[in-house]
Amino acid sequence: MKRRLLRVCGALLLSGMAFASWNWSAGKAPPGHECRFYKTLFDGQVQCRLCPRKCIVPEGKRGTCGIRENRGGKLYLITYGKPCSLGNEPIEKAPFFHFLPGTRRLVLATVGCVLRCRFCQNWEISQAKFEDVPYREVSPEQAVAVALHEKVSSICFTFTEPTVYYEYMYDVAKLAHEKGLKTSMVSSGYIETEPLKELLKVLDAVKIDLKGFTEKFYEEMAAADLEPVLNSIKTVKQSGKWLEIVNLVIPGQNDDPKDLQRMCLWLKENAGADTPVHFTRFFPQYKLKSVPPTPVASLVRAYGIAKAAGLRYVYVGNVPGHPMENTACPKCGKTLIERQGYQIVKNALKGGRCPYCSERLRGLW
Ligand code: SF4
Repeated sequence: MKRRLLRVCGALLLSGMAFASWNWSAGKAPPGHECRFYKTLFDGQVQCRLCPRKCIVPEGKRGTCGIRENRGGKLYLITYGKPCSLGNEPIEKAPFFHFLPGTRRLVLATVGCVLRCRFCQNWEISQAKFEDVPYREVSPEQAVAVALHEKVSSICFTFTEPTVYYEYMYDVAKLAHEKGLKTSMVSSGYIETEPLKELLKVLDAVKIDLKGFTEKFYEEMAAADLEPVLNSIKTVKQSGKWLEIVNLVIPGQNDDPKDLQRMCLWLKENAGADTPVHFTRFFPQYKLKSVPPTPVASLVRAYGIAKAAGLRYVYVGNVPGHPMENTACPKCGKTLIERQGYQIVKNALKGGRCPYCSERLRGLW
């Protein structure tokens, strides 16, 4: 199991000597870091107020995410400073297409997730028990030092569900800003509004994984609700921070054209026509091994639905070399950024504008 976990955490390998003398740990009793959003109840119980689950956690137990533990009537984040994934990757892999294209990011993740997606691509770390996954001791100062050493442009919290290691992410992001680095998060958006607003103060960009557009899909496939995710999309948009949306299209599960059309119209109204939307290809995973890969034609159909709904930046993902991975000027239609997998092979943008018609393209360039 552990050998497999190391393979999954492929981002562990960094280019330099930053970790030459650091060892992997696993299974030690973690000291933890006190959580910010919880309430003390009676009988030593506490209620976590970080995500919509609002777990009531008895003494000695953990919440649904598996990494917030009640010790002596206080709630602790047990993965603070203990990432299981740390690496140097292209920003396009997020995928972020309008946020620092062509740059590298330091990716960071700890074990834990609040959702139970049957199609999770990182289930070996998101759904694992903390004690079963190797980690490194990496303080926020060390994480930022590694980012500077690696000469990346940003730090990205991703792979599992970053909001569940909130306090660690917040401290790393705050310090990263102080050192001139940008920060981003790839999240399910399953978080309460107050902590999200606080978190957005130290983030520059957020990608929300909108997994479907029906309560039924969220309930059956992720053991969660859709509504909190929609609220988070609105909150990020209202904050003015850069927002992108990704939707994994799963055959027969969330690819109904009517649902996709409702989703795109909702996004246009609530996130704006300039918010990039990525439709990515599903491959059989975890508990959905019997579902076939998404036909490329389904992604192209979703693309067409989104464009017809008025979204200006729509992409197809997990199909390397597909022309719908490129960025076109929404006014004159000329191709401005060409991608090949995670590589940028051409970027014709001049100061964030189309060089042919001067249209300004939305994004952080
Ligand atoms: S963050 Fe974890 S402990 Fe807190 S409410 Fe959500 S699942 Fe429960």
